Amino acid sequence: MIKKFSVSTPVYPWDILDDGVDAYLDGVIEHIGANSVYTPVCYYMEESSAFWWGGVMPHNKKIHRYYSEDGRCYFEPDAKFYSNTKIKPERTVDPLLANFDNLRTLEGPVHDRGMQLSAWVPLFKNPHLARRHADCTPVDIFGGRAKHGLCPNNPDVIGYYKGIVSDIASNYKVDAIGLDKFGIEYWAGGPEGHGWYNNVNGGHCWGADIDPVFLMLNTPCFCEHCGRKAAEMGYDWEKIKARVSKLAWSSVNRDSSVVFRLSQKGYFQGESGVARLILEEEDIYQWLRFKIDTMVNTAKELKATIKSISPDIKMTIALDPPDRPNFQRFRHYGWLYGSSYRALSSVADSIGVASGWSTDEKYYSGKLAIDAVDGRCPCNEDVHAIPPADPEHIREQIRLYHSMGMNGYVIFGYTWAPLENLHAAREELRAIEQSM
Ligand SMILES: [Zn+2]
Repeated sequence: MIKKFSVSTPVYPWDILDDGVDAYLDGVIEHIGANSVYTPVCYYMEESSAFWWGGVMPHNKKIHRYYSEDGRCYFEPDAKFYSNTKIKPERTVDPLLANFDNLRTLEGPVHDRGMQLSAWVPLFKNPHLARRHADCTPVDIFGGRAKHGLCPNNPDVIGYYKGIVSDIASNYKVDAIGLDKFGIEYWAGGPEGHGWYNNVNGGHCWGADIDPVFLMLNTPCFCEHCGRKAAEMGYDWEKIKARVSKLAWSSVNRDSSVVFRLSQKGYFQGESGVARLILEEEDIYQWLRFKIDTMVNTAKELKATIKSISPDIKMTIALDPPDRPNFQRFRHYGWLYGSSYRALSSVADSIGVASGWSTDEKYYSGKLAIDAVDGRCPCNEDVHAIPPADPEHIREQIRLYHSMGMNGYVIFGYTWAPLENLHAAREELRAIEQSM
């Protein structure tokens, strides 16, 4: 096991059901040198069906593929923490997971081995709860609701997530609570929400028929709770809303065949229209800042809740890259979603970067993230150990993060990666430890 810095890897409920918790933990120590694991408290259907190369899990002996449910809890929720919200946690109904609680199963064996345990909490993307509570979903400027997410300014939504972190901090021995999908959800397009342009040049170019200005103006949220919060914070919400509406309707009413022809010629590649809009239109700038303020306030509220129960539990936040879509291509830019590395680094105990596949992408996005965080909290970036990565690519990633001054390594992920890739990670991490 690596001792001098954090080496973490995800542990999914279906992995420990398959391997057994002891074999799984001994495996991640042996094959990666991991000293920490993080486990999801819930997950989403789309990520197992659309992602992970068909979901085949080479280490699992019995469960070779697993289709996760949307938004159902793998731990045993305690109803008393959810008395202030109409949104109640729902336990998994998968017979495979009956009577199984991943946090309870892990807490003893993880700490017996001198490892750390983090509860991985996906927040505002939750298709199951969004469809059950459509009135809690984000609203776009046209009044449409994105029914795969929840608005952080809705009192029932923040009440629910305060309940989740209180429940975990009170009832389980965890060292950290990691916030993921931390932003105001918008539908990025495509059948799984994985982006309008995910097929164009590996996801780096806009789809041919999308005007980036329209994409930005089409993002939420304009629900009544956002309006109330914005007014409390001193934003002129009616003025902002009127201007976004006018510009969004102008985009809709433009001849889409012209937009399409221009796009085909590469007209939108520089995205200068977006920069012009933010620079020229004060109301647009204020609207985007309000989203960032929303996420900073949300992080502060959740952190205060966690620390009031257990000051030793760290609150970490995983964010999409500052400059591009994340590696899953579900979202375009963090700032459309209200996430700001710079603003959130003053609240989070550490920030995780989930960037693209290539070393170039990881280098560029990682550098931007480190500049934005500017030493205010530790920063780490995912090491993708799953195919198409090969052992040499694993070594390159780890050397790169080390040279950039990242503070920990998340090896993603034990379930899917070939052992030779994991061993490459282990050797490279040992070499870094020995040089310290
Ligand atoms: Zn809202």
